Amino acid sequence: MQKRSAKKDDTGSAATKKACMGTACDSKTSKPAAARVEEEDTTNVFSHDLDTLQCDICFMPFESQIYMCKNGHAACGNCCVRLQRKCPSCNESTGDIWCRAMEKILAGMTRPCKFKKHGCKHILSFSEIRTHEEETCRYAPYPCPFDGCAYTVTRLRDHMLECGHGPFFELDSLGPLCVLLYPDGDESVFLLLNGGDVPTGRSLSVVRLYPRPDEEYGAGAVPQQYTMLVEGDVPAGSLSLTFGTVQFVRCLKGHKRREFLFLPDARWGSSRTVTVNVTVYP
Ligand SMILES: [Zn+2]
Ligand SMILES: [Zn+2]
Ligand SMILES: [Zn+2]
Ligand SMILES: [Zn+2]
Repeated sequence: MQKRSAKKDDTGSAATKKACMGTACDSKTSKPAAARVEEEDTTNVFSHDLDTLQCDICFMPFESQIYMCKNGHAACGNCCVRLQRKCPSCNESTGDIWCRAMEKILAGMTRPCKFKKHGCKHILSFSEIRTHEEETCRYAPYPCPFDGCAYTVTRLRDHMLECGHGPFFELDSLGPLCVLLYPDGDESVFLLLNGGDVPTGRSLSVVRLYPRPDEEYGAGAVPQQYTMLVEGDVPAGSLSLTFGTVQFVRCLKGHKRREFLFLPDARWGSSRTVTVNVTVYP
C-alpha cells in the first residue's frame, strides 16, 4: 500500500514537466507463463515534451480547437482569427484544416489538479489545465507578484499591506509594476504593469490579481473596465486611456496583455517617473 501511493506521487510530479500516455498491456493471454509475466510488467509509456503541445505562434498550450495549414503548421483557434487565417510560417491559408487527431490525444491526457493537496479533486484534461489552475481553481493560492518575495498566500490583499508592497501610484520608468489598492472595503488587488515590450517607450496596463471574479460576483462575471490618466513633469499635458478591460490573472508568469497605453520615452521627463491615476468600473 505504501509503495503504491509513493509511485502514484512520482507520476504526478513528473507530469508537470513531461506528459505521459500509458496503455496497460492485456493480461488475458494464452501465452506461456514466463512470457505472460513479462507482458504484465510492461506498460507502454510515451514521454512527450510539453513544448510541442503548445501553439507555435502564441506559445500557449492548445486548449480548444487546433488547426493547421496545408503544410502542417499547427495554430490555435485564437491565432487563426488574430492572423486573419494566414499561416505566419508559410503564408498559406490556415483555419480550414482541423487537427482532430491532436485534439483527441490532448483530451485523453489527464492528471489531477496541482492543488490537490489544498483540497481540489478535479481531474483535468490537458486542454483544461491552464484555465483551471491559473484562473478558476478555488483552491489555488496566489503567488506574490514581487520579485524576491517568495510568499504564496490565500489572502493577497492582507499580504500586500503587511509587507508594504502598496498602494503606490507613482511609477518609475524601469519599475515593473505598481500595486493599486482601493479603500472602502474593496478587497481587490490590482496591478499597474509597466512593460518593456515596445520600442521607444513603455506599455502600461491594468490587471486584477485577487480575488477570482467568480468568488466575488459569481459565475459569468462581467469583466471590469478601467480608465488611466498619466501625468509626468513634461509640459505636453496628460495622456489617457479611456476604458480598457481589466484582465484577471492569478499568476503573472506567462501573462499576455490584450491592450495597453503606450507611453513614449519622452513622456517620462527628467525625473523618469509619472503619476498614474487608475479608476476601475464598476
Ligand atoms: Zn496560438
Ligand atoms: Zn504553414
Ligand atoms: Zn483545482
Ligand atoms: Zn510579497
